[in-house]
Amino acid sequence: MKKSMRRIKVIAFTFVFMLVFASSAFAAISLAYPQKVGLGEPFLVRVTSDKTLDSVTAKWLGTKVSPEIRTWKGKNISLVMFGTDVLADKAGKKELVITVVENGKKRKFSRKVKVYTKKYKTQRLTLPEKMVTPPKEVSARIQNDRVEVKAAKQTQSAERMWFVPFSRPTKGSQSSPYGARRILNGKPKNPHRGLDFRGAKGAKIRAMADGKVILVANHYYAGNCVYLDHGNGVVTLYFHLSQFDVKEGDRVERGQIIGRVGSTGRVTGPHLHMSVSVQGRLVDPRFLLEKSTDKLLGL
Ligand SMILES: [Zn+2]
Repeated sequence: MKKSMRRIKVIAFTFVFMLVFASSAFAAISLAYPQKVGLGEPFLVRVTSDKTLDSVTAKWLGTKVSPEIRTWKGKNISLVMFGTDVLADKAGKKELVITVVENGKKRKFSRKVKVYTKKYKTQRLTLPEKMVTPPKEVSARIQNDRVEVKAAKQTQSAERMWFVPFSRPTKGSQSSPYGARRILNGKPKNPHRGLDFRGAKGAKIRAMADGKVILVANHYYAGNCVYLDHGNGVVTLYFHLSQFDVKEGDRVERGQIIGRVGSTGRVTGPHLHMSVSVQGRLVDPRFLLEKSTDKLLGL
């Protein structure tokens, strides 16, 4: 009798001990991110947990993202895309903050990423004067375009529909790169914050990832343009189209035709201008077309 009581006590004690131990043991979190990135480059941050998390939040340059958490091989994984904008951001050490919530308890991880300056080309172009210095009567229209663009670039949707590398938007070869400083008709202008592709009028333009059509418009500079939301703050932009093959609200699959190459807006001839907005910042799309997940994580 005494012996069995002792055994029960031991079992009970072990059970309580295990409970206390289990509740105080946090998930093992591992973070992957690059230590340094060039100004204008996108990069990835990966949060891996061995236990289920309530949420993950990542903060970079004042922008917060709550990425989707997916389970893969028994691990809970979030992938976040961030970047810097060659026009809006500066080089230097920047803070990356990851917050995980597990059983209602918050844990914060603060890391530093070094953003270094890169040399970008200078391009001199000659365009019709009204496209370089727009006439007064179109200023209200340009302002309205800006409002639409800002809203589209700030789209945050919960489902991540992208993966890298993105698929090519069109067959033509790349022409004007991201970051090129532009001198239009002798006047210094903002750097080129997209990537141009050669293409004849009517050439097919395809979605670079699964997504949703959030804007189909005709803007003063961009001409006929399509904006696709790929989730978790990643939006792709396609400019100067001659034809639309989608409408706002459509779901699109990676590789699906969304429009045709054209020369609408501020252009010298038919081509596709494509940009990628990451948490509202226009980054170098080349990295997302050419680099693997590991490369963008700095591994
Ligand atoms: Zn362009």
